[in-house]
Amino acid sequence: MKIAVVGTGYVGLVTGTCFSEIGIQVKCVDIDEEKVKKLQNGTIPIYEPGLDLLFERNIREKRLAFTTSLAEGINDADVIFLALPTPPNEDGSADLKYVLKVAEDIGTLLKRYTIIVDKSTVPVGTAELVKEKISNKTSIEFDVASNPEFLREGVAVEDFMKPDRVVIGANTDKAKKILGDLYAPLVRQGNPIIFMDIRSAELTKYAANAFLATKITFMNEIANLCELLGADVDMVRRGIGTDNRIGKRFLFAGIGYGGSCFPKDVQALAKSSKEVKYNFRILNAVMEINNQQKIKLIDKIKAYFNHDLKGKTIAIWGLSFKPYTDDIREAPAIDNIYKLLDAGVNIQAYDPEAMNNVRLILGDKIKLVNEEYDALHNADALMIFTEWPVFRTPDFSIMKSKMKNNIIFDGRNLYDPDTMKENGFSYISIGRKEVYV
Ligand code: NAD
Repeated sequence: MKIAVVGTGYVGLVTGTCFSEIGIQVKCVDIDEEKVKKLQNGTIPIYEPGLDLLFERNIREKRLAFTTSLAEGINDADVIFLALPTPPNEDGSADLKYVLKVAEDIGTLLKRYTIIVDKSTVPVGTAELVKEKISNKTSIEFDVASNPEFLREGVAVEDFMKPDRVVIGANTDKAKKILGDLYAPLVRQGNPIIFMDIRSAELTKYAANAFLATKITFMNEIANLCELLGADVDMVRRGIGTDNRIGKRFLFAGIGYGGSCFPKDVQALAKSSKEVKYNFRILNAVMEINNQQKIKLIDKIKAYFNHDLKGKTIAIWGLSFKPYTDDIREAPAIDNIYKLLDAGVNIQAYDPEAMNNVRLILGDKIKLVNEEYDALHNADALMIFTEWPVFRTPDFSIMKSKMKNNIIFDGRNLYDPDTMKENGFSYISIGRKEVYV
């Protein structure tokens, strides 16, 4: 089987590389010439653990290739995956211009039966639009299917190679058979391939992300209540997470969800609901709460410094929206940085992987340093925005020797408050008691 993957970002590159790993011939297409040049030269433009090994092997074994030409990329493909961006429009709806433009171009290039698969996260009804765009340009037989992607950045390779489930929305037996065969090697342990109608598949992806965003937000609301009632959100988390009906995951309170998916997908689902005159009230609350939660530490740090942050030096640990990725799209750290800059703060920041991306958007507005302890030099406070493992067990005596004030504002609840006090730190986190020295 031969496949093409159009769009070689976080999803497309992982999809293409992982399919090549199971013996499929893969051509990846991207309009970004610089990105394609890097890939052709054997360099991966993103940070994704474990991807390099597979990438190098499959290039060497000539199963994986990259091109900027759609015609060349899809020339002999049996299946074409669309892994294109679907960013939010100003009104929150998903912008389908990339998907629909490529669909139209594919229509002019088809030579024989092909399945075009939406892997991008797209609103219900998009497959029908894709079908229409292609039909307008060709009389060759083709199918459009929906195959939403559930991989998580940071563990994307593992998620792709061992998916909990594969969702395939298709309405012909031919498309179901070909896509089922393509995915079969990835579900040998018995995880299901769930076939369904296309509209349900499209909605499944939004439902999953909206549910997870709601679960995080619910816990953040509990954390806010804990602060007012003198309870500890970590204890409550352990108390409820052990209930199988609730489950342990996505229960960590913090400074809100971010990333390239949750915020845009929650918005897009709310907008889709509105379009059919359904008021999806939970989603509206989730978005409002998360926007406040993201900058929750700003209120706390302002209160601590009597609402005068001007000229203060703040150290920041963590810039990516979550650990093990360099992705800073909608990262809470970035919202916080803008607020701190507005307040006249000097920022010294460190992140293990995301600093290059931050440099691209913030230039020299903040100082980026090469080591976590360098960020602490003469700092009036430390703020933690991402729970990278390297921040979990720092050397507190080095920290104290560098910082001007021993106070930490922790948006990810990395440390135990009592232990921090014993170590000589004032420590303010989310949904737990504040300790002062
Ligand atoms: P991305 O921005 O990292 O990658 C998209 C790629 O498409 C870019 O390299 C861009 O240059 C390329 N592109 C744009 N127009 C093109 C065109 N006309 N022809 C060829 N290439 C083109 O995006 P992503 O994070 O990989 O997300 C892609 C889709 O997958 C989105 O709909 C997203 O919601 C969904 N998704 C993302 C994740 C994730 O964790 N990132 C997970 C599941 C689903």
